[in-house]
Amino acid sequence: MDFASSSATATSLLLGATDVAPVLEHNADGRSPFLFTADHYGRLIPKPLGDLGLPESELMRHIGWDIGIAGVAERLSKRLDAHLIAQRYSRLVIDCNRPPGVPSSIPLLSEATTIPGNDGLSREDRETRRCEIFDPYHRRIHEAIERRQAEKRPTILVALHSFTPVYAGAARPWHIGTLHRLDKILPPLLLRALRTEGDLVVGDNEPYAVSETTDYTIPVHAEARGLMCCGIEIRQDLITDEGGQQQWAERLARILGGIEATLIGRKA
Ligand SMILES: [Zn+2]
Repeated sequence: MDFASSSATATSLLLGATDVAPVLEHNADGRSPFLFTADHYGRLIPKPLGDLGLPESELMRHIGWDIGIAGVAERLSKRLDAHLIAQRYSRLVIDCNRPPGVPSSIPLLSEATTIPGNDGLSREDRETRRCEIFDPYHRRIHEAIERRQAEKRPTILVALHSFTPVYAGAARPWHIGTLHRLDKILPPLLLRALRTEGDLVVGDNEPYAVSETTDYTIPVHAEARGLMCCGIEIRQDLITDEGGQQQWAERLARILGGIEATLIGRKA
């Protein structure tokens, strides 16, 4: 894979001395079979890109990042002693869950918002964003899975996301959705457990489904290796504050912890 072989020591054209690294990790040595990713964890913008020509009010919306998922992901990773790999820069700079090259990778339009800072980019501009943000993030996920496999440790990849309650004028009724395609072990168990909660409207491949053009993390890192995997989308208004993040982290830790033994047994 390209991101595994590209040089990590190339001179930086984008991220300067005051810009933080794109990859954030918790519990890298966690013992859980679950590996959590958060492609849209942060909403930072590298200094040279300014504000991408957008007001703060736009940058803070769901178009810039997955609102609330950082707080859920960190708590969940801690509760389950699971490795979390997250990406700190805004998806408007480069979307880490899109194959590089598709229009939504570096979007000129997101929902109804035009992103001036993404207009008229050269090939080199695009490559630079990929090399300095997208590649290091996916290289880390790749390395982490390779290491687990070398150590004969199971890996169940769960990609954590949040979604906006209203998109392009349409209200979405789900509290949470599971996103899945090839894995037939984890998603049905997770769906059943979520529905058993009794107080949730659960989406089955809603509000999104996994595809080659709208996803990268699940197809490339999990499906291509035949790993158990699922995307989880939580409606952002439920996890905007810390109380909601705590509640959802506890609920998901209980549910995932509850099906863990069954998953490992089924795969063996
Ligand atoms: Zn997301």
